[in-house]
Amino acid sequence: MVQKRNRSEIESWIETEIDRGNLDIKLANHVPRLRGTAPPPEFLGKTSDEFDAFLDRNFPRRKFASLRRNLDKAARRKVITPVQLYRYIVEIGNLLHAATITMDAFARLQNKCPPLRVCAGCGRLFVPSRKDQMTCMKKCGSRVRVARRREKQEYYEENRKLQGVPR
Ligand SMILES: [Zn+2]
Repeated sequence: MVQKRNRSEIESWIETEIDRGNLDIKLANHVPRLRGTAPPPEFLGKTSDEFDAFLDRNFPRRKFASLRRNLDKAARRKVITPVQLYRYIVEIGNLLHAATITMDAFARLQNKCPPLRVCAGCGRLFVPSRKDQMTCMKKCGSRVRVARRREKQEYYEENRKLQGVPR
């Protein structure tokens, strides 16, 4: 009886932790970032006007719609200030991005699928379903392939020019 209760307590604790983890992933994904690129800029100003200018400069509404929507929501609800929410999003993103590097390394050693990965196409965090799944969706996969092909092409063109080989 006691064991049974303990188990369901543990299960509900695990569920809560999973929900929290999913929420953190969602928050971090408001600012997608490809692996190996710089973290989002720090806000060093004070006033809300300065913060608005900072946002317009670094996170234009057209490109970062979900981030801006959530910061607007924070401003209206007044539970957490937009600056606090922005800092939390950056912090949790930094932690999760760092964690994916460790997860990837361990998963590779054990020949397993890591629990969390950074999409090679869009920079969002996602839960891969196979160990060789490197992008969060098909669209990102083809984006990566096109970019690689272009890179290769440029590399060959550059080499050809350097070697003076006529086309
Ligand atoms: Zn993606």
